[in-house]
Parts: sequence; structure tokens; C-alpha cells
Amino acid sequence: MSSPAPLDQLIACPSCDALHRSARLGESERAACARCGTLLITPRARSFLHVIALAFTAMILMIAAIFFPFLKISAQGFSHASSVFEVAMAFSEGFLAPLAFAVLMLIVGLPILRFGALIYVLWPLANARPAWPHAAQAFRLAEELEPWSMAEIFIIGTAVALVKIGGLASVSLGPAFWAFCALIIVTALKNAFLSQWTIWDAIGRK
Ligand SMILES: [Zn+2]
Repeated sequence: MSSPAPLDQLIACPSCDALHRSARLGESERAACARCGTLLITPRARSFLHVIALAFTAMILMIAAIFFPFLKISAQGFSHASSVFEVAMAFSEGFLAPLAFAVLMLIVGLPILRFGALIYVLWPLANARPAWPHAAQAFRLAEELEPWSMAEIFIIGTAVALVKIGGLASVSLGPAFWAFCALIIVTALKNAFLSQWTIWDAIGRK
């Protein structure tokens, strides 16, 4: 860098911390980190609309994933199908109640809260309006909750358990399992469209 740039014009790569000078981009341009390729700046209105659409999709998939049958176990002529909600509710009495609460919060509550906060922040911005009150707090909350959204871990854990009980009973996957898989893909796509810097920039410019 030849001359020192003001701090608010610098943008640090969220993956590798390389510093770049920010720039106003055209409608179809995007900026990526020169060192590691992480997306830094996205075109504003369009990427906001993409993220809103994907967050809505994720919320609907989430509801399907909780209430539809997750898996069906058959052994010796008996079969039983359960949804994630039913399983969590099975622990809702006695000393295991905190477990039921933690399961529902980590698998269901936090992702829905996060998608809701993202939609709240981005909806006015995508319509070229000023951000709604407390948008900055809502976006910070969505960012802080990200490491706690554990749909992927849940699917991996389930897969391991299925392999283990595969020898004892015949197990078939219900629609909720596939809804969870679609949810993971939708979440990954959303992260690909989402540039924190662009959103902070849009929230800041009233
Ligand atoms: Zn980088």
C-alpha cells in the first residue's frame, strides 16, 4: 500500500485477514480476496434478495424437518416413525427436560431466530429503504449465532447412529431427513451470497 488509507475504507478478508481498499462496485460486479478468494463485496440489492429468498426457504424447510417423520424403524413386523419434535418431546418430562429444551433450541430455535434476524435486516435494504430500527443489533445477533446453528452436526450424528442400528432393524429415512439435507445446501448457498461488509455498509448508510 503506497499511502495510508482511512480505516473506514479498508476491508479485511474474514478468512485470511488480508487488508484491501474498499471500492464502490457496479450492479453486476463483486469483489473477492486477492489472496484466498473469499467473497468480500457483493452487488447490493440483488444479493440481498437472494439471501432473503434463501432464508425464507430455509425456514420452511426447517418446519418440514421438525414435524415430518424423520425416520422409520421396522423390526420383527413392528414399525415406528418419529419426527424430531416427537423425539424431543419424549424427553420433556423429569430430569431429561433440559435435554429436550437444548435439542429444540440448538437444532430448531437458533437457526429460525437467525434466519428471522437476517430477513428483518435485509428486507428494507433490498427495497432500497433505510434500515429498520435495531438492524445493527439484529445482524450482530445473526452473526454471533452462526457457530451455534448445528443442522450439519445433527445430520452427521444421525448418519452415524443409522449405520450402527442398521444391523438390528431396517431403517428408512423420512421426508424430514431430506428436508434437513436441503436445509444444509440452502444454508451454504446463503453464505455464498452473503457479504458481511456489504450488509454493514448498507446498515450504516441511512
Ligand atoms: Zn482472504
